[in-house]
Amino acid sequence: MSIPYKHSLSFARELDEHDPLHSFRSLFKIPQRNGKDCIYFCGNSLGLQPKAAANSIAEQMDNWAHFAVEGHFEGATPWMTYHKQARKTLSRLVGAKEHEVVAMNSLTVNLHLLLVTFYQPQGLRRKILMEKGAFPSDQYALESHLKWYGYDPEECIIEVEPDVDTNLYSTGHIVNEISKAGDELALVLFSGIQYYTGQLFDMAAITKAAHGVGALAGFDLAHAMGNVPMSLHDAEVDFATWCSYKYLNSSPGGISGIYIHEKHAANKDLNRFGGWWGHNEQERFKMKKGFDPTPNADGWQLSNAPVLLLAAHMASLNIFEKAGIDELRKKSVALTGFLEFLLRELNKDDETVQIITPSNPEERGSQLSLFITNGNKEVFNAIQRRGVIADWREPNVIRIAPAPLYNTFQEVFQFVEILKEELLKLASIKHG
Ligand SMILES: *Cc1c(COP(=O)(O)O)cnc(C)c1O
Repeated sequence: MSIPYKHSLSFARELDEHDPLHSFRSLFKIPQRNGKDCIYFCGNSLGLQPKAAANSIAEQMDNWAHFAVEGHFEGATPWMTYHKQARKTLSRLVGAKEHEVVAMNSLTVNLHLLLVTFYQPQGLRRKILMEKGAFPSDQYALESHLKWYGYDPEECIIEVEPDVDTNLYSTGHIVNEISKAGDELALVLFSGIQYYTGQLFDMAAITKAAHGVGALAGFDLAHAMGNVPMSLHDAEVDFATWCSYKYLNSSPGGISGIYIHEKHAANKDLNRFGGWWGHNEQERFKMKKGFDPTPNADGWQLSNAPVLLLAAHMASLNIFEKAGIDELRKKSVALTGFLEFLLRELNKDDETVQIITPSNPEERGSQLSLFITNGNKEVFNAIQRRGVIADWREPNVIRIAPAPLYNTFQEVFQFVEILKEELLKLASIKHG
């Protein structure tokens, strides 16, 4: 899809007027700055609060007050099975069967649990391949697993380097590195979307390459979940996890989730850390000896679900269910494309703002990472004072993520105008 963009506020307004998802913005609390709606481009870090979240949590507070322990079986959403309500939408978002996903814990905790199952070193096959510069939590999780096995992380972690010129990881290069590692490779763990550059990886190609050498493939979907449509089941991805507080708007520290391909999920013999909530549901309350895991993703649950977090999660998932990820993606491509177009205009005469995110929409989600040439945090502080909430990463990258559920084309236009003005001001101060 290629839209003939125009550099004008009236054009941006027109796009908003024709946006079928425009009304979804009113379902969210928009933070106020300088007496008006801020321009919030930080949904890749913490999504905005759905207005329905407070009610959804209040309902569970009422259930607790009214039913107390009987709330496990009483009320409109008995807590015993409440987590199952998240399944339908989660499975659609990742492209999986319903029994392949479950909402539980937090992201890094889930990563550890999944590594217990899916990192099974045998003899020389013990290496793990990941992208260099992966989110630190993922690096620490892997490092600690290797140490726990008595292995040297330096020797066992293969880091795929990005291209020196573009900072991006080409699929060809990743696939080559996987083949090179061959039968020493136990696991490939990649992010779905790279948090720093915003690059969307070809999860199907990476998984195929991993399987080709007899390794497994898993993904950290922190930045992909609720951002781009996925088809984990068809791509035969072995496992994945995500967080729900970024694009999924499900509250700070909100509940995470996992995906496990059914061919593994049904296998009761897989190594795992067990807990009573993963035990065969019919037998769970018989409190008997001997762990009998539920033969689907539920079998990885440890504890009974945090109902208040789930309440916030459901308020947001209901919105995703109404909007649909394909419609959201369509708008996201247009919104981010508009941002890219305006930034290119801004850059007509020089390269003040370099976009380090891939220019191909197929290789990115909604985020553009802007490298401010000769810039420092001054630019960021200046746009922040003008009511733009974005995200700063050392040494000089601003991450901008227009979220299709609540951001508008007019906001994208206004943001680029503000950025342009502040860059000009800073340049004129520098040049005296
Ligand atoms: C945001 C993010 C995390 C955060 O981990 P938590 O356990 O939720 O604190 C981990 N990995 C990646 C890739 C992220 O982007």
